[in-house]
Amino acid sequence: MNLIFFGPPGAGKGTQAKKLVAERGIPQISTGDILRSHTREGTALGKKAKEYMEQGLLVPDQLVIDMVDDRLGKPDAQNGYILDGFPRTVGQAVALDQLLGKRDAEIDKVLVLRVPDEKIVARVVGRRMCKACGSVFHLEFQPPAVQGVCDACGGELYQRTDDTAEKVRVRLNEYAHNTEPVAAYYKQRGIVAEIDGVGDIDAIYQRLTSALDE
Ligand code: AMP
Repeated sequence: MNLIFFGPPGAGKGTQAKKLVAERGIPQISTGDILRSHTREGTALGKKAKEYMEQGLLVPDQLVIDMVDDRLGKPDAQNGYILDGFPRTVGQAVALDQLLGKRDAEIDKVLVLRVPDEKIVARVVGRRMCKACGSVFHLEFQPPAVQGVCDACGGELYQRTDDTAEKVRVRLNEYAHNTEPVAAYYKQRGIVAEIDGVGDIDAIYQRLTSALDE
């Protein structure tokens, strides 16, 4: 199954995708994670993307599209995947159709996680990520057993530079203007399921898997 997890920053896309990866064995392809590893490693792409990411702005379409094209060609992506954080513009959605067309594939479902803006800021500002494995925690809603240490791998937890109240407002603005129209793009095809993204992580996962299996 080729899936898109869609929703504003802090909606829980990554958290829910990781649960589905563990259960169904298809990879999560997070453009944010791939871009962050490029910026950490200081690649040419990372250097181009860094400034946009730090400001909370979208990275130019073509950079992300080429990166996704490359990722979809990897062996582990041949039997389905979860796209997390891509496509984020209508231009990216059109390009994705072309990438899928040349591989004779299509998107089966778009799961939209709905969380009101007023809940997003608290979620994002309290978020902590593992430097080593990318696991996601929250200081209040999902704290690690030992402060600053990843439960999954013992790695060091850190706060993303764009997870501040100021940058979240910029990111929500980008989402409203550039990303929300992508939902309408897929709605025309009747493959969109809207999920209430507020509440307990397991309860949201239940809603998500029932929408998936419908
Ligand atoms: P995320 O981890 O999904 O919140 O993404 C973090 C940042 O990476 C975003 O604020 C953008 O700067 C950049 N980014 C991730 N995915 C995309 C995308 N599909 N298009 C443009 N920029 C992206």
